[in-house]
Amino acid sequence: MALPSGATLTRFNYIEKITGDIGPYAGRVSQDQKNVLVVGGGIIGLVSAFRLAQAHHGVTLFDPAVAKGATWAAAGMVAPGAEIAPGEQSNYELQKGALAAWREVSHALDELTGEGITIAQTGTLLVGWDASDRRLIEQFRKVASGFEAPMDVVTRNDSPDIFEGVTHRISEGLLMTDDAWIDPDQIVRLLLRGLELLGVRVVAEEVLDISSNFEGVAVRTGTGEFRGDLGILATGAGRLPDGALTSGANVVRPIRGVTVRVQGIDRSEQPSVRAFVRGRAFYMVSRFGGYCVLGATAEERADAVLEVGELQRLLRDALDIVPELETARVLETRMGLRPASADLEPFFEVLANKGWAWSSGHYRHGVTLAPLAALRAVEFAEGPA
Ligand SMILES: Cc1cc2nc3c(=O)[nH]c(=O)nc-3n(C[C@H](O)[C@H](O)[C@H](O)COP(=O)(O)OP(=O)(O)OC[C@H]3O[C@@H](n4cnc5c(N)ncnc54)[C@H](O)[C@@H]3O)c2cc1C
Repeated sequence: MALPSGATLTRFNYIEKITGDIGPYAGRVSQDQKNVLVVGGGIIGLVSAFRLAQAHHGVTLFDPAVAKGATWAAAGMVAPGAEIAPGEQSNYELQKGALAAWREVSHALDELTGEGITIAQTGTLLVGWDASDRRLIEQFRKVASGFEAPMDVVTRNDSPDIFEGVTHRISEGLLMTDDAWIDPDQIVRLLLRGLELLGVRVVAEEVLDISSNFEGVAVRTGTGEFRGDLGILATGAGRLPDGALTSGANVVRPIRGVTVRVQGIDRSEQPSVRAFVRGRAFYMVSRFGGYCVLGATAEERADAVLEVGELQRLLRDALDIVPELETARVLETRMGLRPASADLEPFFEVLANKGWAWSSGHYRHGVTLAPLAALRAVEFAEGPA
């Protein structure tokens, strides 16, 4: 629902406020404890709920299928360098702070649960399949140089390890040295444990509508009404619950993506691979023990039908770039809807419903940006640090 005419919009300037120090999390004790309702338990809602609970707010999280949206399909690349695209410098600057923010979350989870997040700062190797793909790499290099992104030109002769498993027709690439990968499955498991230890209630129900009045905010599910002081909508590319009064300045559209999980090649000590293949983007993120994530398709659609052609293109690109995948075992495919905003940047919109905000638009970077989105949620509850 759009904001009635004459109503005002508050929109945090996401980009400006995020690039600086992430210190406000550290050891911060809330002056004013709030009860916060978080609607949506993807990576954005989960990390936001965790940081809010850690800051001593009471939190209730609602989701009928926790972490089974885009978060389920995500490869877990925290790759500001390899994700560079023309016109997206502000997003790149934002993402540069993400790894440090994830380290903070890891530290907090470790203290609480005894297990931290695996963060593998392996870098990303960018390669092109044919001459026109190599031109795309060259264009990428120019854009990335303009952003002053750290990178090295690498060759198979000088660094054979980096090219292990990559087709021999490729002998040169770009190494984006600061990129990393994390494992969303591990993070979701740790966050759910952390939420439990912090006393967060997880309600496995869809929120049908939201409201607010001078006493606070409320949500209605199929079984009843829940009340709090503040509410955050972290529903990804999903439809907003009835009653949400947005400004209309932010809209989210779903960009569907598929990843294929295989077992067979362990490049976990080597950079993730990102390639242009016949103009399409392909990547392989290799975790410990030979588990690899191959991705990803990107289509403007929201249905759940996986077509043979869509899968075939992805696997053909995979085999062309990493021929050793020929004998890898297919474990599963995963599908999710990336929440893309009009300008492809994330937003944290304070709604016209008093006490409500909407955190979305993280598009292809939501895993990367989740701890920064959580900072917005804590600021919303406590006011700017
Ligand atoms: C194929 C693929 C690969 C990707 N790879 C990467 C990557 O390598 N690195 C990266 O940084 N990002 C990646 N992304 C992007 C990232 O996954 C998303 O940006 C991120 O998951 C968005 O998180 P979210 O919590 O907003 O949405 P989601 O994960 O979709 O979560 C939204 C949640 O809200 C719940 N929900 C919706 N409506 C309601 C309601 N009314 N009541 C209660 N609950 C509700 C849903 O059930 C869902 O669990 C990838 C995405 C895809 C699809």
